[in-house]
Amino acid sequence: MSDLKTATRPGRIHEITAVSNPRVKSIRGLFQKKHRDLSGTFLVEGQKLVMDAFEHGWQVDTLIYAKGDEVRKPIEELAAKVRVQGGDILEVNGKVLTSITRKDNPQTVLGVIKQQWSQAPKNVSDPKTVWIGLDRVRDPGNLGTIIRTADSAGADGIILIGETTDPFSVEATRATMGSIFNVPLVRMTNGEFLAWRKSWNGLVVGTHLKGAVDFRTIDYASHPVLLLMGNEQQGMPDDLAEACDKLALIPMHGAADSLNLAIATGVFLFQMGKRLPAVEGELK
Ligand code: SAM
Repeated sequence: MSDLKTATRPGRIHEITAVSNPRVKSIRGLFQKKHRDLSGTFLVEGQKLVMDAFEHGWQVDTLIYAKGDEVRKPIEELAAKVRVQGGDILEVNGKVLTSITRKDNPQTVLGVIKQQWSQAPKNVSDPKTVWIGLDRVRDPGNLGTIIRTADSAGADGIILIGETTDPFSVEATRATMGSIFNVPLVRMTNGEFLAWRKSWNGLVVGTHLKGAVDFRTIDYASHPVLLLMGNEQQGMPDDLAEACDKLALIPMHGAADSLNLAIATGVFLFQMGKRLPAVEGELK
C-alpha cells in the first residue's frame, strides 16, 4: 500500500471542459521527453496503471477522469486518497481526454505521476541478487517489456547505461503493465557505469553474440549477478564487454542472427531462476 504522507493541504478538484485549458496543454506536453524531464513527471493511461502507481507509493500529482454518472466507485475512492496526499483531481469530458491522448477512444482515467529514480546498489552480497544493465536501449516497447520481465523474475533493478529511451514515455510505461512501479531504475553514463562496476562484488555476465560461454553452463546461484545486455542495433561495445567476467551466448537455430533484446533478457533471467516462487498445486 501507499506509504506517502498526508499533504499539508488537500488537492483541489477542477472541472475542465475546454481543450485549450493551460493545464490540459501541459499534460498533453508530457508526451514529449523534454516536458517530462522539466516537470519530473510522466503520464500514465488507464485506471489500473494509476491505481498501481498509488498502491506502490508513487506520488499521483494529478488524477484525470471522465466526469459522468458512470464514474465508478473505485475511482471516487482513489480520488479521495489522492487529494489527501495533495494531488489534484481534474474532472473532464471526452473531448478533453481525446485531446490529451490523441485517441478517438481514449482511456477514461489518466494520471500524472512523479518520476522516481534510484541509486546504484552498493556492497551487494546476497547471492540471490540480480541487477540488469541495459546498454543504450532504444526501443520503448523493448524497455517496457524488459521492466515487466525483470519484475516477474524477481530482479532487483535495472541500470540504464548511456543514451537510452525514456522509461517514463507513454509507450514504455504501457508495455511495463504496471511493473514500472516495482522495479528500481538507475541511470548512468557509460563512464559512470564502468567506474561503478569496479565496486560490484559479484559476477558480471555480458550477453554477446560472440560469447564464448554457453549460457546454460554458468553458475548463477553462488554470487550476485549483474546481467549486461547490448544495444539492439550495435550489440555491446568493447569497453563494456571487457568489463564482463563472462560473455555468454544463447545458441540458436534458424535464419536470424540474434534474438530480440527483450526476449534474450527474459531467457537469461529465467535460466538463472533466482527468487522464482515455487509452483503450488498440480495440473489436473
Ligand atoms: N546486431 C546486434 C549484434 O551484433 O550484437 C544484435 C543485437 S541483439 C538484437 C541485442 C542484444 O540482445 C545483444 O547485444 C545481446 O545482449 C542480446 N542477445 C540477442 N541474442 C542473443 C544470443 N543469442 N545470445 C546472447 N545474447 C543475445
